[in-house]
Amino acid sequence: MALHYRTCPFCEATCGLEVETQGSEVVSVRGDKEDVFSRGFICPKAHGLKQLHEDPDRLRTPLVRRDGELVEATWDEAFEEIDRRLSPLLAEHGRDAVAVYLGNPIVHNLSGVLYGPAVLRALGSRNIYSASTVDQMPKQVSSGLMFGTMLSIPLADVDRTDHLLILGANPLVSNGSLLTAPDMRGRLRAIRERGGKVVVVDPRRTRTAEEADEHHFIRPGTDAALLAAMACTLVEEGLADPGPLREHLNGLDEVMELVRGFPPERAAGACGIPAEEIRRMARELAAAPRAVVYGRVGTCTQEFGTLASWLVDVLNVLTGNLDREGGAMFAQAAAGQRNSSGNGGSGRGVRLGRWDSRVRGLPEVFGELPVSCLAEEIETPGEDKVRALITLAGNPLVSTPNAERLQRAVGGLEFQLAIDLYVNETTRHADVVLPAPQPLERSHFDLAFYQLSVRNVANYSPAVFEGEGPAEWELLLRLAGVVSGQGPNADVAAIDDLVVSTLVQREVSMPGSPVEGRDAAELIAELEPRRGPERILDLILRVGPYGDAFGAAAGNGSPALTLDELERNPHGVDLGPHRPRLPEMLRTPSGKVELAPESIVADLERLRPVLSRKLNGDMVLIGRRHLRSNNSWMHNLPALVKGKDRCTLHIHPDDARRLGLDDGGRALVSSAAGRIEAPVELTDGIMPGVVSIPHGWGHDAPGVRMRVASEHAGVNSNVLTDETKVDPVSGNAVLNGIPVRLQPI
Ligand code: SF4
Repeated sequence: MALHYRTCPFCEATCGLEVETQGSEVVSVRGDKEDVFSRGFICPKAHGLKQLHEDPDRLRTPLVRRDGELVEATWDEAFEEIDRRLSPLLAEHGRDAVAVYLGNPIVHNLSGVLYGPAVLRALGSRNIYSASTVDQMPKQVSSGLMFGTMLSIPLADVDRTDHLLILGANPLVSNGSLLTAPDMRGRLRAIRERGGKVVVVDPRRTRTAEEADEHHFIRPGTDAALLAAMACTLVEEGLADPGPLREHLNGLDEVMELVRGFPPERAAGACGIPAEEIRRMARELAAAPRAVVYGRVGTCTQEFGTLASWLVDVLNVLTGNLDREGGAMFAQAAAGQRNSSGNGGSGRGVRLGRWDSRVRGLPEVFGELPVSCLAEEIETPGEDKVRALITLAGNPLVSTPNAERLQRAVGGLEFQLAIDLYVNETTRHADVVLPAPQPLERSHFDLAFYQLSVRNVANYSPAVFEGEGPAEWELLLRLAGVVSGQGPNADVAAIDDLVVSTLVQREVSMPGSPVEGRDAAELIAELEPRRGPERILDLILRVGPYGDAFGAAAGNGSPALTLDELERNPHGVDLGPHRPRLPEMLRTPSGKVELAPESIVADLERLRPVLSRKLNGDMVLIGRRHLRSNNSWMHNLPALVKGKDRCTLHIHPDDARRLGLDDGGRALVSSAAGRIEAPVELTDGIMPGVVSIPHGWGHDAPGVRMRVASEHAGVNSNVLTDETKVDPVSGNAVLNGIPVRLQPI
């Protein structure tokens, strides 16, 4: 028997697990009571780790398509096939002929985060797509424009706030998104126990709403109108007061003037929330000693996603709650950026729209294009059309808009490669599928989520089991070798050395780096004998805000975090609560918070007509999240799909009566994009005029090799979503507020 301490890789909460093994068997998975962050908390998904390890459907051997069938092959055969198919295509049609789609699990994967970029750089394609433009890009864009980087996202300080206003998020089920916080139920209850208040705005009475003091139904897609109306209230009633923040703000007067155009009395009809309630919510937000607004998926996956995401932080600024305890604060992650030295932060800021998508002309955002464009980039003739697709831990045929169009488009590709755990709805079309190591076969450190964490912590987990194939970083670098023209048997170790050398060179030549001017070769030698992700992680930690700076910080009272230190602390290292970081964390060119970014302010014009919208009896579709599910990829684990069917159409009883739908019956749901049949579930927990179907389902497609998932297939809600509808500033898909028609079957 052996005990292993791991960080759970299944969602953003980063809970500590105690995994008991015997030989190659997982005996049990429990919460790690000594974990410095989660203190033993886990949710039911954690038990899926054992079933994922045992899952007979999980891929262990590469698959190559021969005579139309995916058949087992050796790793060498698989890479030879990739080289045989991909290299001529790149040579003849150029780099943009090959698109890449990065799925959400990549960001939970240390090798994926560290070595995925090496593949993308080696490929050099502009056709990079990811799950980020499905559900979170608006927040990254608004934060990037306001604060200077794509991860400078203000985080609700839930552990110290007195008033938490949540829009479009269900953290009791998600355990936080762009807000890493194990045990959200406990944290929200603690707000109320210390006399604070939790308010939820959502078209559904979610589990979070049931725990809250107050819940307001809101018409999907109108969060920006509500938030603007709240900001207007603050300004009109003399409650807007950023306090000491004022000296760090650009554009305050402009924003205060702009929001005056959105009085609650005009927004109420569109939102479905009475004007007096909107004003009261704004007054209470301003009056609370410490308050914060948190908006998430529902505020991003809509036509005004960037506006809504921006207005969340406008409210945090206007109430003086940005960068203060109990308000919206910035993490200082062990592997994140240091504060800049001197009197104020400044940097290059973010540059968006460096290129446009070929067909629709949508702008690039943080190096990628909106995934809503992918189908048209494959289908539309032209020398520079997309001819091949590489998916890394992604299932875009289920998780991106207008799934049926994308499926037709993918059918016309000249080559498709997937790295994945399963043959799923997307990878069944691939010509080569490389099995990804399962989580217990890889080391873990949450590079991304500790930058979004409500407390500064760091926790590293070594792999529990030896993988059956190459380590993930090795297979990614082997792929980088193919796409860079080195053939199927590139020297992976040499590419790794090059990656590390480039990173170290960048550090020693970066002004303000703690190793500025040091000898790169000496630093690389100090990282010996580590290789792969551990070597890069050690480097990042050592030059990070708590790092030993390769000895420069030792003995002077500064912290001295290294990977060695994390290995000595299997329950993690607590780096303390957030502290105010303005202005030193800013990376805007001005060194100020840009409260009125030009592209966002310009988009306000699009919001004005929404104020005249009235609820007209039409039905609109939204998604929903379940505690036992995270997108599409956990549905082959029996523990997570057992029980009653969860992929149902939620509808209010009044709407059901009007439309002739019965509880337990079936409905034909149609939209501009497509139609599906779904089982009907009546609930007064949804706003009249709104129906909800969870996304990530529809596992009954031929060729899918996920037996459990196929038995609990559900329907693919993204057959109904429309790839032509995006939030124009971020390019994010619009998945909420889709007009639908319903009829009984
Ligand atoms: S809340 Fe998230 S991180 Fe924690 S156990 Fe559940 S799935 Fe894992």
